[in-house]
Amino acid sequence: MNIILLGPPGAGKGTQAQRLVERHGMKQLSTGDMLRAAVKAQTPVGLKAKAVMEAGELVSDEIVSALIGDELDAMPEGQGAIFDGYPRTAPQAESLGELLASRGKKLDHVIELDVNEDALVERITGRYTCASCGKGYHDTFEKPAVEGTCDKCGGHEFKRRPDDNEETVRTRMAEYRAKTAPILPIYEVQGIVARVDGMADMDEVTAAIEAILGKR
Ligand code: ADP
Ligand code: ADP
Ligand code: ZN
Repeated sequence: MNIILLGPPGAGKGTQAQRLVERHGMKQLSTGDMLRAAVKAQTPVGLKAKAVMEAGELVSDEIVSALIGDELDAMPEGQGAIFDGYPRTAPQAESLGELLASRGKKLDHVIELDVNEDALVERITGRYTCASCGKGYHDTFEKPAVEGTCDKCGGHEFKRRPDDNEETVRTRMAEYRAKTAPILPIYEVQGIVARVDGMADMDEVTAAIEAILGKR
């Protein structure tokens, strides 16, 4: 099963993707994570992407679609993919269709996390992750059980993203509205879009997604 999690920054895509990975052994394909790894490693892609990401603008379609193609090739036969933060533009949606078709795969569900924009700034500015395993946390909404210790791996170091500040979030939201939300109709015609209330508790969101995945 291959699914897209769609929603503005802070909607809960990464949180829900991590849960699906744990429960179903699916593979999370986050172009944001791939780009941050490239920036850290100072690869040619990373050097190009760094300033664009810091400004909250979109990296070029060619770059992100190439990253996704490489990841799809590296996946074992039969493993399902969760596209998290991709596609974000109409050309990316078109590329994804081609990337999947040429590998004999298809999309099963596009799950839109429906959220109130006013809540997103608080979600984003309180977000942090474990530096060792990448598990996501929030200052208010998802604290580790033991303060300063990662629930998943026991690590003690955490990090915050340079682009998780209020100003950049506003740009990222505007990009979402202008370029990403308009791709939904492409999938509506295919009859594969499902909407989930992303303002609900994390566990409720997970249950709603599980219900959708169980339908097919
Ligand atoms: P969030 O999940 O908070 O929306 P991401 O981690 O998905 O953020 O993305 C962080 C940044 O990386 C984006 O603001 C953008 O600059 C870049 N990026 C990630 N995915 C894409 C993509 N599919 N197309 C273009 N730029 C992307
Ligand atoms: P995205 O990947 O869509 O940008 P994240 O999954 O990283 O969003 O979530 C952003 C922040 O909000 C994280 O710190 C996460 O812990 C928190 N969060 C995610 N889902 C919820 C929810 N349903 N209720 C409250 N906080 C949430
Ligand atoms: Zn950890």
